[in-house]
Amino acid sequence: MHPFSYTRAATTRQALDAGRDGGRYIAGGTTLVDLMRETVERPRTLVDISALPLREIMVTRRGGLRIGALVRMSEAAAHRGVRALYPVISEALELSASAQLRNMATIGGNIMQRTRCTYFRDVTAAACNKRAPGSGCAARDGFNRTHAILGTSDACVATHPSDVAVAFAALEATVVVLGPDGERSVPFADFLLRPGSTPNREQALRRGELITGVEIPAHPRPLRSGYLKVRDRQSYEFALTSAAVALHIRGGVIREAKVAAGGVGTVPWKLPAVERALIGRRPSDALWTKAAERAADGARPLHHNRFKVELLKRTVERQLRVVGGGR
Ligand code: SF4
Repeated sequence: MHPFSYTRAATTRQALDAGRDGGRYIAGGTTLVDLMRETVERPRTLVDISALPLREIMVTRRGGLRIGALVRMSEAAAHRGVRALYPVISEALELSASAQLRNMATIGGNIMQRTRCTYFRDVTAAACNKRAPGSGCAARDGFNRTHAILGTSDACVATHPSDVAVAFAALEATVVVLGPDGERSVPFADFLLRPGSTPNREQALRRGELITGVEIPAHPRPLRSGYLKVRDRQSYEFALTSAAVALHIRGGVIREAKVAAGGVGTVPWKLPAVERALIGRRPSDALWTKAAERAADGARPLHHNRFKVELLKRTVERQLRVVGGGR
């Protein structure tokens, strides 16, 4: 680990001042400290933001939900309001990491976590555009079974590892950030960036900006929702594929559908074609199958991960049936 200085921010102003000067924010530290040990990350200054008042979960005036950036994953998963309004969020969190990690890691840190691509984490691997811009991508011609099939570029094919980010993408959340120029809200779809030619740039944060929370907009009620994660083993493993589904069904007709996939995209992957195929139709097994056929539209599989195309369709179909009911 490289030497670094450490400062603890007592106020948001202190944190922003330190962030503006190039300090790196840390809270739970469950990703960043790992990466510092592996020397993938070498921040010169860590700014501990754990003491900031960002640990509240509240219902917004419009009937949505705001989750503070420093709420622990386990706290959010167990929160009565989250469980009642958006079970898809609770389920995505409970299927993430180990209990110990969920007790430490925060919501803000979770969506900021970096890819699990093994080449990215191995500093002895020569080529990784995300870690060393311009060096190439070892995964393209290497072992790429767990890599992305959607949103890839010539420069990078790594997946985003977060589960709860898939639920946030499905529900069209916004990320609230605070910086030297004040507060702004960034739609979740714009917050995490596809790799393009600059895979080292992963979020739409400006210098010194701090995530203060995630807001879920109000959706029509009742809203059924849930998360399915398919992985090589049943615990402490990242998704090969996953599906976050939320459906508003009234009068026997699907009025609103929110669907996103994980484990397959360079960012959590919203599935608008699947959503369009559902809206205005009556739930049925045939509908779930037909809609899920659109889940892998645009997929560009690599040498070792062609299986993800079919697995993604089946994951989405299964979760549509679980949430929407079979007939
Ligand atoms: Fe690096 Fe991305 Fe290639 Fe992995 S997929 S080696 S993170 S550039």
